[in-house]
Amino acid sequence: MNKIQITRVGIIGGGYAGMAAAVALAERGIAVTVFESAKQLGGRARGVLHQDTQLDNGQHLLLGCYRQTLRLIEQVGGNLEHDFLRLPLQLDLHGEFSLRAPHLPAPLHLLVALLTAQGLTWRERLSAARFMLGLRRMDFRLPNDMTVAQLLAQHGQDANLAQKLWEPLCIAALNTPIHKASAQVLLNVLRDALNQSRADSDMLLPRVDFTALFPQRAANYIVQRGGKVILCCGVEALIPKDDGIELVTAQGTEPFSHVICAAPPSVAAKLLSPITQLDSTVQQIEALQHQPIYTVYLQYPAHVRLPHPMIGLHQRFSQWLFDKGRIAGQHGLLAAVISAEGIHQELPQEQLAQKVIAELREEFGIAESPDWFKVIAEKRATFTCAPNLLRPSHQTALPALLLAGDYTAGDYPATLEGAVLSGLRCAKLIPA
Ligand SMILES: Cc1cc2nc3c(=O)[nH]c(=O)nc-3n(C[C@H](O)[C@H](O)[C@H](O)COP(=O)(O)OP(=O)(O)OC[C@H]3O[C@@H](n4cnc5c(N)ncnc54)[C@H](O)[C@@H]3O)c2cc1C
Repeated sequence: MNKIQITRVGIIGGGYAGMAAAVALAERGIAVTVFESAKQLGGRARGVLHQDTQLDNGQHLLLGCYRQTLRLIEQVGGNLEHDFLRLPLQLDLHGEFSLRAPHLPAPLHLLVALLTAQGLTWRERLSAARFMLGLRRMDFRLPNDMTVAQLLAQHGQDANLAQKLWEPLCIAALNTPIHKASAQVLLNVLRDALNQSRADSDMLLPRVDFTALFPQRAANYIVQRGGKVILCCGVEALIPKDDGIELVTAQGTEPFSHVICAAPPSVAAKLLSPITQLDSTVQQIEALQHQPIYTVYLQYPAHVRLPHPMIGLHQRFSQWLFDKGRIAGQHGLLAAVISAEGIHQELPQEQLAQKVIAELREEFGIAESPDWFKVIAEKRATFTCAPNLLRPSHQTALPALLLAGDYTAGDYPATLEGAVLSGLRCAKLIPA
């Protein structure tokens, strides 16, 4: 094999982490090759075509504070005005709870939102506002991590507040039930979303599918700068060498000075496990547990609409409903999202869809039947974001091998921003 003198980076995985790393390296003029095992880019945030209708593998939501993801989308040619429906912070649980942030600077917008929330008693509103002020005084840092349920109990947040406000927020942000979720990680998200500028708490609902939104544009950007993005080309093995790492695929073996493994945790553990120096990293990855996200898409006649682009339900199977007509002009297409573990996992998909259809009828009077429905169950959507979780660091025992992905060390739960940040950190660790 030729000795590698220049920096040549191989990236395993064309999800948001891998593509973020590739864009940052290509920007610096470094030669990158992205290997993606699937026939399309995006990984756990990808477009899915069903019956000629463009769906995603699950309805996603970005926050205004996802600065790096939004910056990269623009860098590769996206237009945030066009790509997203941007809504100011609002949480509606149909008929039960409603919170809307007024046009005031942060964090005043949140305090007023809490103090005027519908569906809470005055005592609960004051208690929620006091809790937020207390967290601000603590700079959103806990001396010791604990579960979200423990934190809520310590701060006197009663069951009604927990069920209507904090639990839906925690599940949406961490995809982990409050009795298992890390309070510190939730506070990291609240710190960034609620505490600085009002726009940070905006909710951005994509109008284009998740492959088109960033990874596909990123691929064009990389190729224009001399890089390669190879689809349907899974990496089968890594072979450490004195001067780098060789990647083995069905197409052959290629040498690289550095490799960023941005595959999902289960694949990363499998690829790394034959390399004994990486035993402790593999153990950390294997110790992670995972949480599902189910999305039920339903195509109703075009006139069927929900009262808002996004609306929650209280104590129902459907946690959040999205009206894709209002969001992206896909009239009559609704998406029901069911995050984290729960009894819905025990139902066959047909039955789960029927539950959602019944809920839509009971809550909104939608009497029609959908023309079709599609349930997409992502059984390992995210890692379980537990307190004091040891997440593998980006650097490994092999100096030429870096780890990226939403599950690697970082402040954020498994999110697009967490994935993107991990990719950018790995790119930064690679010298020119
Ligand atoms: C249904 C659902 C809803 C979600 N909702 C939200 C949300 O609203 N907001 C939010 O911020 N986050 C959300 N998330 C989380 C977010 O999608 C993930 O955190 C993020 O996409 C993870 O990106 P990643 O690059 O780390 O990993 P992945 O997306 O898993 O990317 C890894 C890539 O590696 C590829 N690969 C696997 N094996 C190999 C191999 N051997 N060789 C080469 N390539 C390989 C995979 O095909 C994949 O493309 C959601 C996730 C799901 C599943």
